[in-house]
Amino acid sequence: MDYKKLAELLFPEITGKPEDYEAKYPARQLPEGAKVTRLGPSPTGFIHLGNLYGAFVDERLAHQSGGVFYLRIEDTDDKRYVEGAVDIIINSLKFFGINFDEGATMDGDIGEYGNYTQSQRGEIYQCFAKKLVEEGKAYPCFLTEEEISEIRACQEANKCNPGIYCQYAKCRDMSYDEVKASIEAGKPYVIRLRSDGKPAEACDEVKKIQVEDAIRGTLEMPENCQDVVILKTTGIPTYHFAHVVDDHLMRTTHVVRGAEWLPSLPIHVELFEKLGWKMPIYCHTAQLMKLDEEGNKRKLSKRKDPELSLDYYRNQGYHPAAVREYLLTILNSNFEEWRMENPDAPIDEFEFTTEKMSNSGALFDLNKLNDISKDVLLKISAPELYDFLKAWAEEFKPEIMHIFEDREYLEKILDLGRNDKKPRKDLIYAQQIIEFISYFFDDMLKIEDEMPAEVPAEDVKKILDAYLASYDHNDDQSMWFDKIRNIATELGYAAKPKDFKKHPEEYKGHVGHVSTVIRIALMGRAQSPDVWEIQQILGEERTRARIANY
Ligand code: GLU
Repeated sequence: MDYKKLAELLFPEITGKPEDYEAKYPARQLPEGAKVTRLGPSPTGFIHLGNLYGAFVDERLAHQSGGVFYLRIEDTDDKRYVEGAVDIIINSLKFFGINFDEGATMDGDIGEYGNYTQSQRGEIYQCFAKKLVEEGKAYPCFLTEEEISEIRACQEANKCNPGIYCQYAKCRDMSYDEVKASIEAGKPYVIRLRSDGKPAEACDEVKKIQVEDAIRGTLEMPENCQDVVILKTTGIPTYHFAHVVDDHLMRTTHVVRGAEWLPSLPIHVELFEKLGWKMPIYCHTAQLMKLDEEGNKRKLSKRKDPELSLDYYRNQGYHPAAVREYLLTILNSNFEEWRMENPDAPIDEFEFTTEKMSNSGALFDLNKLNDISKDVLLKISAPELYDFLKAWAEEFKPEIMHIFEDREYLEKILDLGRNDKKPRKDLIYAQQIIEFISYFFDDMLKIEDEMPAEVPAEDVKKILDAYLASYDHNDDQSMWFDKIRNIATELGYAAKPKDFKKHPEEYKGHVGHVSTVIRIALMGRAQSPDVWEIQQILGEERTRARIANY
């Protein structure tokens, strides 16, 4: 068979040469050890935690080493394309501190290795498919869907592996004239790799290949024997082919991708080999898992777990620094230890490595994120938090913009209890913070809790009247509390909880119940930070009005 002639028949319009592309996209001039990584999302408009998790690895590997991190849009599955998706990807990642150096943007490409959108690279894929055909390493296949189903049924009956390989690859040895006649008859065809691999039924032992994975170490897997499709009937490449061609020509050094690609790795190994190219270093990240209600580990699902979507963290108002900090704890097993030793160091000083990544499923836990967020927010100053909350509210809760009118007031609220020796950790994410501090604003004050059962209704009034009568905004904390104690004893409540516990028959309740009455009148809640401090922030007028109006 004259493969050159066959290649011309299949790709008459492809005149570009592989060496032209090699010259157009030369090896990158980067310092020794610099890594080139990429994110290759499909533009579906849905950007999820897994993307962020992978992007984080890409970003760290590239930027820690003085390399390049670029964005490639993998839109070969055009049914899933969503308008504006590129912007969504770039902006969502930027929010979490992840920036690309190169690649696709809404306003066109940045960088010398484009085009960075796969649907614009048709000629490149075809040129390399043509090269493989010329060398007898790929061939046109005219099998119809029905024929492929028949092959599958036969394989099932004979307990053979499914797929198009060896004797099932019926179009492998078509003659030039047969191919030409089929094309002229208008029969659709794909281009398949002519695999050299041997399946189990054709040899004593399937050959194993070894691949060094930067996260998983040496992987040993059976070699590929499938004549996989590299170009579909439309001429569009499959993931396998586009990955190999793009990562070669864009000079990617490290391919970070999900573990779901591990089973197809032997295909990629064979493609790199057939094209005569050096493989990049693969980094197959662990799947993101969560514990379900029954305590079983399962994959995060788009349908069941809203926290899989990155929008979730934006809507809830998680601070990007908290999400980054949390991601690093699940990404690198030594991060938490480093953080303990370097509590105030900027996060980028931590040296991220693929070796310290888990390969068995990274457990994602919202409660842990919340705990970390509490610590991270503690280190963010009140003015900075104010700005963050304001920007969040503008986008997600415009109806509360009035709380930002008095900057000083809100900053004091945010700082409440945060500068103590043992600081309070009340603040987690914007949605929760707004709810937590809502009682400071008259229009958002809600009476959420009931008065303590120990205090009858007539005592509530007596306590509040006495409190108002004795209230002096200038009292210091101990003077203020002495007055509450007095009110308590005068009305038959123990001045100390322990006295009440010892002799419950002698009292109606204790000073704690009395101060809860005041707390509820002031804040609508039985639990809150220190009442005296809250009153100092509320100011005299607001404090008096709340007690009087309860
Ligand atoms: N487009 C692929 C995906 O969205 C990218 C996989 C890769 O990074 O190679 O899963």
